[in-house]
Amino acid sequence: MKTFVYNSLEARVVFGSGSLKLLVRELDALGAKRAIVLCTPEQRVMAERVAALIGGRCSGIFDRAVMHVPIETAREARQFALSQKADCAIAIGGGSTTGLGKAIALESSLPIVSIPTTYAGSEMTPIYGITEAGLKKTGRDVRVLPRTVIYDPELTVSLPLGLSVTSGINAMAHAAEGLYAEDANPVMSLFAEEGIRALAQGLPRVVNNPEDLSARSDCLYGAWLCGAVLGNVGMALHHKLCHTLGGSFNLPHAETHTIVLPHALAYNTEAAPEAMQRIAKALQASNAAQGMFDLALSLGAPTALKDIGMPENELDRCADIATQNAYANPRPVEKAAIRALLQSAYQGARP
Ligand code: NAD
Repeated sequence: MKTFVYNSLEARVVFGSGSLKLLVRELDALGAKRAIVLCTPEQRVMAERVAALIGGRCSGIFDRAVMHVPIETAREARQFALSQKADCAIAIGGGSTTGLGKAIALESSLPIVSIPTTYAGSEMTPIYGITEAGLKKTGRDVRVLPRTVIYDPELTVSLPLGLSVTSGINAMAHAAEGLYAEDANPVMSLFAEEGIRALAQGLPRVVNNPEDLSARSDCLYGAWLCGAVLGNVGMALHHKLCHTLGGSFNLPHAETHTIVLPHALAYNTEAAPEAMQRIAKALQASNAAQGMFDLALSLGAPTALKDIGMPENELDRCADIATQNAYANPRPVEKAAIRALLQSAYQGARP
């Protein structure tokens, strides 16, 4: 028998190839007249395209978004928003750029229009992260949830192939853990299963032809669904491990998720049979962990932590940090078993 609480988060989603051109309409709906545009230095050209599109409503471009939102960058961006008298921030880019928008909104409640160009899913969550003195602090606050999200698959065509694959598997990780979350609910589980299915079908076609717009559309659609799961239900072992590996050992975000996911699923296999069945079905595989590992292999994704900079002599410390605080997970989190999982992921062994 089902027992659950379902809280829907308010965000307007505009999806479709070419939907960037609806941006002015969306600014009208928010009553925004002085928008700043946020981007990374690498995506300055995309931000300039946005600025040209909205013409006189653009009050400036801030192009210094970087990974993990350093507090210094957040302060500069907040100051920029104030000096430009901005009434809206448009974040065009991946999780790093959306994260910078969230850091501004956290203090000012400035409405954010997010235009995601990766599959990370940050645009659908009220979760923010800011790094101060080498420590990334995360929190939840509805003020940081973007008010409008424009998903335009055309903007993802330039996403490099390696990042397309790892970012897509990063998205699938949100959905996989959402299916066995302590506070899982039937609506988010539908999102999760469909999100994994869309990405599992889209990613091989993107690898085959990165300019295949229909494949890009399937992947971005999957990323939306998986991001919504991340924003609505709690995560477990997999996200805890990746947070530790990224935060304490500076490993790259999407690659780390890609490598750890099959091992985290294997760890939880016996304890979450229904979730595993649904993940396997969405992957068209007979086993969730094996299916995820095989998908990563077939897409040419990295499969070993040793290949992305993890030092072997730090695996003990990583297991210590990841098991320090209690958190919800289908199978109890035991240090020796986590250490074995990390060894397996380090070597890139089949889970
Ligand atoms: P990213 O935003 O750091 O982007 C990686 C690189 O790819 C950047 O140089 C970016 O400019 C470039 N790029 C992005 N889209 C492109 C495109 N279409 N074409 C060409 N280049 C493109 O990477 P990410 O994986 O999207 O985000 C990772 C960050 O987001 C991490 O800090 C992570 O913690 C955070 N995150 C937060 C949440 C949340 O809910 N708060 C969710 C997921 C990720």
